[in-house]
Amino acid sequence: MRSLVLIGHGSHLNGESAVAAYRYAELIRARGLFDEVIEGYWKEEPSLRQVLRTTASTDVTVIPMFISEGYFTETVIPRELGLGHQGPVPPEGIARVIGGRTVRYTLPYGVHPGMTDVIEARAREVLPDLGPDGPTDGVDTALIVLGHGTTRNENSSRVIYENAARLRAGGLFSEVHTLFLDEEPRVTGWADLVRAPRVVIVPFFASEGWHTLETIPQDLGLTGTVTDFPGQPHGHQQVFYARPVGTHAAIADVIVHLAEEARGAGGPGGDTERGHEAAWQAFLTLARRGARVGELLVTPELGVFEIRNALDEGRPGGDLMTLVTPEGVRDRVRFTDGGEHRPVHTLRSLPRGWRAVLNEADLRRAVHYTYPAVVEETYAHGCHALRPTPWATTARRQTGIYAKVQRAVPEQVERVAGRVCAACLRTRLWAGERLTHSFLDGVPGGMPCAEACTFLVAEVREEVARKKAGAAS
Ligand code: SF4
Repeated sequence: MRSLVLIGHGSHLNGESAVAAYRYAELIRARGLFDEVIEGYWKEEPSLRQVLRTTASTDVTVIPMFISEGYFTETVIPRELGLGHQGPVPPEGIARVIGGRTVRYTLPYGVHPGMTDVIEARAREVLPDLGPDGPTDGVDTALIVLGHGTTRNENSSRVIYENAARLRAGGLFSEVHTLFLDEEPRVTGWADLVRAPRVVIVPFFASEGWHTLETIPQDLGLTGTVTDFPGQPHGHQQVFYARPVGTHAAIADVIVHLAEEARGAGGPGGDTERGHEAAWQAFLTLARRGARVGELLVTPELGVFEIRNALDEGRPGGDLMTLVTPEGVRDRVRFTDGGEHRPVHTLRSLPRGWRAVLNEADLRRAVHYTYPAVVEETYAHGCHALRPTPWATTARRQTGIYAKVQRAVPEQVERVAGRVCAACLRTRLWAGERLTHSFLDGVPGGMPCAEACTFLVAEVREEVARKKAGAAS
């Protein structure tokens, strides 16, 4: 049995940030190579602190969904997963046994040599006449691999240079150049470099955004909207502007390669993780009788299950939108009725107006998406196996812009938690609160919070910054 975990950054504010990891997880899930493919996030749930607990097997491969190495892949993710490692990740990755699971942590997908094929695939999308040895009409074509670049992270440019070297060796393009937004050579100087009458520019970026849609086209001297860019004349040259590499479907191939390489001759995989399975069996026993889990109502119906917001109890099914897949539930519960993003799923804002009809396997996945890690953590709490992490420990662990939460005094933390956590179903074990009954005992809102979530940490940081600004004025 094998579990694959894709780690994205996520966002407390923007629901779109998590979509790329969801999309690649779906593509890989469809191939049936892993028993499960799970997503985890720094700023959404399941969080990095929870995600390993949500995996069903004892053989777990974790892949950071980042375009280059850096602070998140070398500091934040290893720290939050409890890998006991900080700093550059060796090419073979890191393997640790954590809580009975063998966890293999790899380099980010963006540094894999397979990205060269993705760059070429993006170029071919806007220049379909590229044959195996160059353009079929014989016109010289230059390629620009365009990276963000930064003086703070030389890894980011190293990957661009390595891909360019492989593309030069491939001989498909008459010239291959590397340009950057934030370091030399800069994208604004491209016209002085390129001699070929045609030039294709491939942004080595993780996603479409402000840079790929606005600043880069401006720097290149392109006019109009992105859809006009393929084949736009620029002086005596034709400019072809491709979409970013990170959104290409072939990234799924790169992820699978990374996972296979991390395992090496890893054998047939692990076993079912017993604590995880026991938690879900406890949940299913409850669900077969009908249950309330937080704001969710679970009703068994002729061999399948219906879930809906408990506030919609009694409403005719025809009045509600009917969903039939866990992914449909996921996409519905990620936003409130008002369309606001829900980075913390146990906040009391589960949207209404929908129902899902699911078999038992899909019920598990749908409940996972609705309340990530809640079944596993609640069961562990009932077995006295969920260890709370006090605020001081969480604060001490923070680095970068969040290190300032270490300056928060207990009253500040309590004030912020009083506002944020009051809207949450979970009981703050980390603050010394006690949870005597859980939804597994029939108390719908009984869910433990073992550790302050990143949403609360971010709010405490804001509070500290506000106080400092107030004191200075
Ligand atoms: Fe909920 Fe507060 Fe725990 Fe975050 S820290 S999960 S808001 S109880």
